[in-house]
Amino acid sequence: MSQEFWTETLYPDYGQSLAVDEVLFETRSEHQHLSIIHNPRFGRVLTLDGVVQTTERDEFIYHEMLTHVPIMAHGAVKRVLIIGGGDGGILREVCRHAGIEHVTQVEIDQAVIDLCREYLPDHSAGAFDDPRAHIVIDDGFAFVQNCSERFDLIISDSTDPQGPGEVLFTSDFYAGCQRCLKPGGVLVTQNGVAFMQMDEVINTAHRLGGLFTDWHFYGAAVPTYVGGIMTFAWASDDPALRQQDADRIRQRWNGAGVETRYYTPELHVGAFALPRYILDALPGKRQD
Ligand code: SAM
Repeated sequence: MSQEFWTETLYPDYGQSLAVDEVLFETRSEHQHLSIIHNPRFGRVLTLDGVVQTTERDEFIYHEMLTHVPIMAHGAVKRVLIIGGGDGGILREVCRHAGIEHVTQVEIDQAVIDLCREYLPDHSAGAFDDPRAHIVIDDGFAFVQNCSERFDLIISDSTDPQGPGEVLFTSDFYAGCQRCLKPGGVLVTQNGVAFMQMDEVINTAHRLGGLFTDWHFYGAAVPTYVGGIMTFAWASDDPALRQQDADRIRQRWNGAGVETRYYTPELHVGAFALPRYILDALPGKRQD
């Protein structure tokens, strides 16, 4: 019997194909198409609207870098807001820090949380039941326009700017996030693979630049986010936060007592060093 393949449809002219030895679940919620497939190399894979979201084998890279970098850079994060993140990987990594006192997670689709608790249990690893975690089922865009809570760190772990995720890449969303940040707070977001989605990186740069004193990007190589460096947007009103040296970050990291498989203090610092082709594309970064 020939091997079945699933092909990602994020790009009209390019796609990765994964051999599918089992479709464990498939449905359409009111927001999106959801599936869990099993691939011999990456294990269980969550797809939303035809796009790879996370896999059992490489999820640690993305989830460690989108959490430990801002938490270590800030140095005193107590209150965190997660937008999206229905698989629970971001919540798991945030809750590993004893200093975190409160996490609000705003996920638009309960079906993603339910599906991932059942089929990707190691992503959340019990974090949805952490007494510090408060799960809200809502549109993250609406939440940041109206919320009265204030946070040290906001992490936008959304789908790509299509479907329900599209609003999470707008100036109004970023302005809502800035409103919900405490002084000295940090916003980080998933912003796609720069080589493949450069327009999205440039759009985010312009939008953050119009709101925050300091913005930049940092990167990590995530095998199933195909096409090169996965880019994370960074924004704060304190430029010093992202420019600390490895000794200071390592001192904090040694005190955190968190084991990782990708993040290191040296990689934290190096991740903000962007390739020339990305710097040249970003407003005002050419001289970096
Ligand atoms: N790591 C993945 C990536 O980089 O593409 C993202 C994973 S996570 C599953 C993305 C989550 O964003 C999904 O659970 C989706 O339901 C949620 N989401 C999309 N649009 C949203 C919105 N407007 N408000 C809140 N959550 C949203």
